[in-house]
Amino acid sequence: MTRKGILVVVSGPSGVGKSTLCKTMTSMVAETTLSLSYTTRRPRPGERDGIDYCFVQEDRFREMIQNREFAEWAEIYGQLYGTPHSSLRQSMDSGVDVLLDIDAQGAREIMKRFSEAVYVFVVPPSLETLRTRLVHRAGDSPGEIQRRLQKASEEIQNYKSYHYLIRNDDLARATKELESIIIAERVKTDRIGVGWLVEKKLLGEGERNTDSHEMLVTKQGGQEHD
Ligand code: ADP
Ligand code: 5GP
Repeated sequence: MTRKGILVVVSGPSGVGKSTLCKTMTSMVAETTLSLSYTTRRPRPGERDGIDYCFVQEDRFREMIQNREFAEWAEIYGQLYGTPHSSLRQSMDSGVDVLLDIDAQGAREIMKRFSEAVYVFVVPPSLETLRTRLVHRAGDSPGEIQRRLQKASEEIQNYKSYHYLIRNDDLARATKELESIIIAERVKTDRIGVGWLVEKKLLGEGERNTDSHEMLVTKQGGQEHD
């Protein structure tokens, strides 16, 4: 029986290191993937269409909203960003954990719809460090960087809506923490499939955990609330 993939929402201020952390996860932890967002913003130097984002015109994005193709979408710094629904669902149905690198508005939308998702908030060690990272990443104007810093302070106020908080000062440690979260979530008793315990007669048929994720997958086909 295929396990249901976990939705791992990684949010936090722009420039804090979310995409760096998420990309590392996909090469470090088996059965993980990073959701590819759509955006109307222009690519930064070095960014590739279909790899970093699907870069689309606003008309196309609005058409996708009309067609309900997004699990969530948000307007951020005057541009539109959205998580496509279909690829997310396909990955989860095939037992792959999906990482969403999205802003706090998007995370709030996902919280309303995916009660079993895991919510991780990443914070910088200081606003000064965040500024340095945004400047070094290049691609955003000084005005853009100022807007991102202002929004960062507001977003951090809501850290308590998340299950986990990662301080991204030392990248190696922050990476280890995110990896540990994913591994620990996989073995939670209400997620892990226990059919084998019954098969091996370690558990009686009547003692099977009917709330387990394995049962939810087969009986209901998902974990989403519409
Ligand atoms: P986000 O996806 O949150 O907007 P990025 O992953 O693009 O942020 O990271 C912003 C910049 O900060 C990048 O240049 C990245 O290499 C750098 N960075 C990320 N984490 C660290 C860290 N722990 N220490 C130093 N630089 C970092
Ligand atoms: P950037 O322009 O720096 O790549 O991204 C700006 C912000 O948009 C970041 O905080 C990033 O996490 C967020 N973001 C990227 N894709 C999505 C998405 O599909 N939905 C939402 N809500 N935010 C996104």
